[in-house]
Formats: sequence, structure tokens, C-alpha cells
Amino acid sequence: METKSIKAFGTEAAEAPLKTLDIKRRAVQAHDVEIEILYCGICHSDLHSARNEWHGTIYPIVPGHEIVGRVTKVGEHVKGFKVGQLAGVGCMVDSCRECEQCKEGLEQYCDPGSILTFNSPDEHLGGQTFGGYSQSIVVDENFVLHISDKLELSAVAPLLCAGITTYSPLKHWKVGPGQKVGIVGIGGLGHMGIKLAKAMGAHVVVLTTSMSKFEDAKRLGADEVILSTDPEQMAKHAKSMNFILDCVSAEHNIDSYLNLLKVDGTLTLVGAPMDPLPVTSFSLILGRRSFAGSAIGGIAETQEMLDFCAEHNITADVEVIGVNDVNDAYERLLKGDIKYRFVIDMASLK
Ligand code: NAP
Ligand code: ZN
Ligand code: ZN
Repeated sequence: METKSIKAFGTEAAEAPLKTLDIKRRAVQAHDVEIEILYCGICHSDLHSARNEWHGTIYPIVPGHEIVGRVTKVGEHVKGFKVGQLAGVGCMVDSCRECEQCKEGLEQYCDPGSILTFNSPDEHLGGQTFGGYSQSIVVDENFVLHISDKLELSAVAPLLCAGITTYSPLKHWKVGPGQKVGIVGIGGLGHMGIKLAKAMGAHVVVLTTSMSKFEDAKRLGADEVILSTDPEQMAKHAKSMNFILDCVSAEHNIDSYLNLLKVDGTLTLVGAPMDPLPVTSFSLILGRRSFAGSAIGGIAETQEMLDFCAEHNITADVEVIGVNDVNDAYERLLKGDIKYRFVIDMASLK
């Protein structure tokens, strides 16, 4: 198959810093859209993967699944996109399209497994897929999203993962007016969770380990903020919440959050720390509580979320960086030193 060489930023080993790499993209096929990448967000999953914290990474890896840019070429059968339009790509670039989940628009739960934007088998070129820390990407139009030109583009990029990963469970568990909803862990995902839960009409309570995020949490839309390391503040909210969205990237005590749920309440995990999280049976039994999980969202739901954000003027709070700052940004992410999403200006890769 014909290919095109482009520049990307990735790494050849878990311990090595990211650097400029040359990678190949396939030539545009009949159903493909080629996108010049303008901005790519940095998700904590990029860091987990680049450092092989989930133990599945195949090197070299080019992370990045919060991609926005401009269409530069379309295949002859492409109907939904035109050259010059804005476009986005999130965590998936393909799926089997035939299983029960794919038919229901739940491509993220595809039976054989969806093809992720990076570090998944590349059925076109062999090897692995390469993500958005790169100049351009070629993706089947069914996995490309429409992006509004009304919002600041760099701040839209994080919606493609942090946005949909928080939107999807909030919708699925029917968060809305009259409900008290906890958001745990105010990073890239958590800060979007606050904005979206508020826009859906819930009473939003932020649970953070960082005093320094108290004022921000209110500005982002929280009705109340709790220091989750203070047992007294936690006790005041015991048995009071309908739903909790847990966006924490590291080990933490699930029981202490489950105890904030009312009878029949649900705590949904979207954060993905590598080690198991112990749960005490009585935290669930006494209160008929549910402990659940959720992965990103389907393609149609991702478009719905992008349209919802355009309508409600919702974007991420971002710090735009050059590609040479990515390694430093990873270190800062580990220290929680980001308010609230790094986004790479891809022009810096030229
Ligand atoms: P992030 O920006 O680094 O935010 C993580 C937040 O977790 C921190 O800001 C901090 O919030 C809290 N935290 C970190 N260490 C903690 C600790 N030891 N104890 C308690 N809280 C701690 O990460 P992100 O990009 O939002 O991603 C969050 C997690 O979601 C990652 O594990 C990522 O891989 C996962 N993820 C899952 C999906 C999915 O489909 N389910 C999609 C994307 C990402 P406070 O300072 O407020 O405490
Ligand atoms: Zn992500
Ligand atoms: Zn499928």
C-alpha cells in the first residue's frame, strides 16, 4: 500500500523520553479522511501507555487520542467531510462494525476489540497504530467527528477523550436536576466531569485531595467542594449522593467514596490505576450500592457530546505547550501540576 512519511513524537522504550520519530501514514483510501493535526491533548492514558504501566505497550509508541485539525484530503466515497473543514479523532479509529455492541453504537465495547488510535494492530499497514502526537492522521470517515468552529480549537481537543469519558457515564446513569453528584479527582477528566454534570443540571460536589483546586472547582461549576483526605468533611456527606464519578489515576480508597452514596447509588470508575482497588463487601451490601465502570463512549455519542458542548459553550481549561515540552508535561502530570489539560500545538513539530 502507498504510504506517506510524516513526523511524530513518541518513544521506543518505557524508560526513554519521547522524541521526534518518522512514521508512515497510509495513502487516503476510498472511505478515508486525511487530517492535518492542529492540536492534540495529553491524556493520563498517554503516560500510562508510553511507560507501559498497563503492560501491553508495543514500541515504538506515538500516543495521543484527543485530536483536532483540518481535513486536507478525502477519499472518493467520503460523504460527510470536505477538504478545509475542522475534524476530530478520539480514542478509536475502527471496530468490527458487526458485533452487537458495534450495531448499537457502543464501538468502545466491540467484541473483538475496537482499534484504538494508538498501540492497536494496524490492519492497513501492519504493526501498530500511531496516535495524535503527529503531523497528520488518516482515518475512516465513520470514526471522524465534526468539530464546531465556534469554540477555541485548542480547548476542544480534550473533549475527544476527557469530554466523552465523563459525558457517557453521566448520561448512562441519567444524571440531572435534583441529583447530588460527586466528582472525584480533578484532573483532565474530572474538570470536564464538573462542567458536564453542572450543564446537565445536577448539584455537583467535588472531592479533591488538593486544597489548591478549591476555588477552581467552584469556578468550574461545583456547588460544594470537599477535601477527600479530611474524614470530618467526608462524614458530613455520608449517604447523600446519587452518583459518583471517580476520575482518579492512582490507587485510592474506594470504600471511603462508596460510603457517600445513598441507597441504590452508583460509583462509576473511569480512572484506570494499574493495581486492583479493594472494596469492602459491606460498603456495597448496606445500601444496595453499585460499583461500576465505563470506557470512553461510542462514536455517535461522541458527536452528541461535541454538539452538546458547542451548544452550552463548554471547552476544557488548557495549557498549550510545544512538542518539546511533552516530557516535562508528563512529570508535571504525575505531580498533579496541571490546570487542567495539556494540549500540544502541533505546529511545533514542523
Ligand atoms: P489527570 O489529569 O492526571 O488527573 C488525575 C487526578 O486524580 C489528579 O488530578 C488528582 O486529582 C487525582 N489523583 C492523582 N493521584 C491521586 C492519589 N494518589 N490519590 C487520590 N487522587 C489522586 O488524569 P486524567 O487524564 O484525567 O485521567 C484520569 C484517569 O482516567 C487515568 O487513569 C486515565 O488513564 C483514565 N482514563 C480512563 C478512560 C476511560 O475510558 N475509562 C479514558 C481516559 C482516561 P485531585 O488533585 O483533585 O485529587
Ligand atoms: Zn484518554
Ligand atoms: Zn464490534
